[in-house]
Amino acid sequence: MIRARVLYSKSAIGTQILLTQDGGSSILVDVGDGTLRDLAEAHFHFDTLKGILITHEHADHTGGLFSLLHFLKHVPHPAPLYILSPKPITYLGDFLVKPLMYSKIPFKVILKELGDGGATKFKIGSLEISFFRAAHVDFESIGYSIRDCQDGFRVVVSGDTMASQKLIRKVKGADLAILESTFEDGQEKFAKAFGHMTTSQAKKVGRLAKKAILVHQVPQEYFKIMNCAVIPSD
Ligand SMILES: [Zn+2]
Repeated sequence: MIRARVLYSKSAIGTQILLTQDGGSSILVDVGDGTLRDLAEAHFHFDTLKGILITHEHADHTGGLFSLLHFLKHVPHPAPLYILSPKPITYLGDFLVKPLMYSKIPFKVILKELGDGGATKFKIGSLEISFFRAAHVDFESIGYSIRDCQDGFRVVVSGDTMASQKLIRKVKGADLAILESTFEDGQEKFAKAFGHMTTSQAKKVGRLAKKAILVHQVPQEYFKIMNCAVIPSD
């Protein structure tokens, strides 16, 4: 069985989801701003962290990677650490080297690009990880399907995406679907323009899984919807 904990998820701020397998191994899906703080406050056992799955390189999904990697230099944790991200990786590699990471990372990091022509399935411990193309904007984006090989329990994480046949196929029959629902109902044109789902669209997809959690909502208290993801409001 895989336990899911949404550490934090708000569009344009951060998204970080912790998946922990019974018996120990943990992986993070996305590492937005504040991931390290969220993990520390949850008294997370860093010695269980085996992999980081990135859905795409937007800042709200990767902004916490630098501080997390830097912290991992100082505490025991499994090696190698896998970081998976869609092909082509644009800037994640910069987090791993000097001068940004100001001393050499003293453990092995395996940075894998996921995309056409490469492997479609990966094993991290006894978790089998596959990915599928997401319908988002700017960067190549993917969602993940993560299966516990011990009991078949399967979790799907949509990443940022519109509803698509690929997503629907993956979510069907999943034990848990963690789905973005960035925009409120009535904001369908923004959802389409920026490659996201509305609440109703996400719920419709989520009903295909045994259980669904909706994440990545726009924090309406900070953003006027007309300006969301386009130009910061004054
Ligand atoms: Zn996002």
